[in-house]
Amino acid sequence: MKYTDLSIQTQREAPNNARTQGFAFLVRAGYVTRENQPTTLGEQALKHLEKLSTTLEDSFFSALDIPVIRNEGETFFPLKTGALEVIHCPACGYTARSEIARFAKSASPAEEALPTERVATPECHTIEDLANFLDIPKEKTAKALLFTRPFDGKFVFAMVRGDMQLSEAKLKGQVGEVKPATPEEIAASGAVAGYASPIGLKDALIIVDDLIPNSPNLVAGANETGYHLKNVNYGRDYSAEIVVDLVQAEAGSACVNCGKLLSAVSADLLASKGVYHFDKILHALAESHYDDKGLTLPHPAAPFDVYLMHVPGKTMDTKSPAAELYESLQKAGIAVLFDDRDERAGVKFNDADLIGSPVRVTVGERGLQNNSVEVKERTSQENQAILQADIVSRVTQILFAPKTGTT
Ligand SMILES: [Zn+2]
Repeated sequence: MKYTDLSIQTQREAPNNARTQGFAFLVRAGYVTRENQPTTLGEQALKHLEKLSTTLEDSFFSALDIPVIRNEGETFFPLKTGALEVIHCPACGYTARSEIARFAKSASPAEEALPTERVATPECHTIEDLANFLDIPKEKTAKALLFTRPFDGKFVFAMVRGDMQLSEAKLKGQVGEVKPATPEEIAASGAVAGYASPIGLKDALIIVDDLIPNSPNLVAGANETGYHLKNVNYGRDYSAEIVVDLVQAEAGSACVNCGKLLSAVSADLLASKGVYHFDKILHALAESHYDDKGLTLPHPAAPFDVYLMHVPGKTMDTKSPAAELYESLQKAGIAVLFDDRDERAGVKFNDADLIGSPVRVTVGERGLQNNSVEVKERTSQENQAILQADIVSRVTQILFAPKTGTT
């Protein structure tokens, strides 16, 4: 395609809303607007990726050479501006959205169940306050979370160990949609907010994390303002309708597969159950491939394999030979972006670097006098003078050369 047909608009400066280098270059190269809307050039890139995904199928992401993390259903790209939080095991590759990620829990040491004891705990509104006040570790406390299930009005009492966070996604996976209980709903069940306990509730659906039955002698609420119960034991003092994994995995939790430490990373979702998000994939490509001058898109990810340009001559027509090359490269199945503007060489070189096609071909007066044109790989400093007759084979050779090194 031709530069003028695509109405490409490159920018000198990075937009001030750019939070990542890759996005800044996507805007500067004219693939997307500052508002992240694809331009005509961007549409070409997206269409190209779409086609590539159908042709390459399973090897699509490896061909793009982007460092994805994935599980059976979903493919993510770690990025600090990513919309999702993903738990990932660097050791074995386990990957899941943080709200549903599993991890290996370690049960508290076994203890004899001690008699329950009511203790005054004034002004202890949080687990932190409570643990400090009683001078016990947070894992010796129980955290109550109170919900109502709108579907049938059922009061849902969820409990996890005090050192852990409830995953609402996991809770909803078990009991369906819930919303925080109102003070009236809490009072009706017999619980007291801030001092809630599952002991002696009326008409409540009690659901506890699977660590709770293995955590003896916990401190839980006494259902009385200002009081807690020490030595509350599952089975003896109360039981639950559902015992299941309810808590959120975190960075530093142990991997459920291999036991190594998990990481938490921000990420974008690139594909889910065979549905690709090509805008995110284009963004991931840009974040993975750039240098200080612009994008350095690899073949076959780049929408155009070759950035072809002519340097307007003083005594010779350089545009017609460039147009001929354009035809012959395209006939050979090479995707070419022909910069057909009568601009200075410097302007075009800058744009070529920004747009990031793997190969640049420059048709200039001096070369033409020897029947040659200049070929430069985007990621190399070296300019090669190649005979016009050899250009298709040289470009093909570069594009399909086995990759050396890693990025
Ligand atoms: Zn692992």
